[in-house]
Amino acid sequence: MTAGLEQTQALEERYLMRTYKRAPVDFVRGEGSLLWDADGNEYLDFLTGISVCSVGHCHPRVVAAIREQSERLIHVSNLFYTEPMARLAQRLSESSLGGRVFFANSGTEANECAIKIARKHAHARGVSAPEIISFESDFHGRTYGALAATPGLAGNEALGPMLPGFRSVPRGDAEALRAAVGERTAAVLIEPIQGESGIHPIPDEALVAAREACDESGALLIFDEIQAGVGRTGSLWAYQQTPVRPDAITAAKALGGGMPIGACITGPAAADVLEPGDHGSTFAGGPVATSAALAVLDIVDDPGLLRGVRERGETLRAGLAALDGVAEVRGRGLMIGVRLEPGLDAAAVGAHLLRRGLVVNVPAESTLRLLPPLVVEDDQIERAIGLIAESLLEA
Ligand code: PLP
Repeated sequence: MTAGLEQTQALEERYLMRTYKRAPVDFVRGEGSLLWDADGNEYLDFLTGISVCSVGHCHPRVVAAIREQSERLIHVSNLFYTEPMARLAQRLSESSLGGRVFFANSGTEANECAIKIARKHAHARGVSAPEIISFESDFHGRTYGALAATPGLAGNEALGPMLPGFRSVPRGDAEALRAAVGERTAAVLIEPIQGESGIHPIPDEALVAAREACDESGALLIFDEIQAGVGRTGSLWAYQQTPVRPDAITAAKALGGGMPIGACITGPAAADVLEPGDHGSTFAGGPVATSAALAVLDIVDDPGLLRGVRERGETLRAGLAALDGVAEVRGRGLMIGVRLEPGLDAAAVGAHLLRRGLVVNVPAESTLRLLPPLVVEDDQIERAIGLIAESLLEA
């Protein structure tokens, strides 16, 4: 333990609310796929701040965009026009569903916007008690709307009462979804690839069932791409590798390259639902975050980079699947979940890897989650596979 880490831990222990269990590392610097702690130890980062620093830490183009914008203008509020916000909205719309964009400051807030759109859209169809349907083990965030759509957390009675009008069906169950969607349904809000539950791609059959059921009932189909979007799966948006086109997607995490930003991006059916007074945010869409996001999209929205994500993803998944101790490798592109054989302690493997200089995380009991930078290099993939092989034997 370093003096730096001990001091930081002492401050945290006294002053921070105890909402997180942190790993015992005090990071002080990052560059590309690498991080350094206060002691100067180097780490290979295969988590990227939970899929936030997807273009690598402190990418020079993102740093330059933040620096240039912050020297000119940092904030004026949403009562005025600012060009980076408008240009980013254009870019997000034209690269996806073609409708309008609402900016937020986080993933959960992007989903709050989507939930408001879904409810208002349903009221306009005469639905008085609209309902939003998600999959079990979906994760949509921690504010009350998104929380109500997150079945695994919504049962926390100590935080109740929860917002009414939400229900869930078993993950990927096309028949259950068809049966659940009806006249009252405002939206089906799902992660096309579940992230927090340990990387579970939803089968195309269930996505098609969701699309068809929404079309029949008039409900909106909303994909939460907060973890899977912005190139993570090897296409700019995750839905682009599925047979369906949702009515709206939500994005955040990687969008700002580390700056806090979220977006609810609509297609035509959902574009004009919200009107002045329905929603807002003081900080959202500010010039610094949106300039950073434009720089991120300049880097990620590139067929060569996205092909590299798909190819490196295949290499990484094949290398992991061949290791002793690995029961299953799930995911798409560089969004990868590794289920370990029974008897192996994923938390111990994760902690061992951190001590050996590889950052991953353990979202579920027997699962390692890997979200390396989209710009990860071939030799770094080899190094990570080697370290995981050793930790599976030694942890
Ligand atoms: N939706 C998904 C799929 C997520 O993975 C997350 C965060 O992990 C969220 C929503 C919430 O995002 P935030 O933590 O930025 O509020």
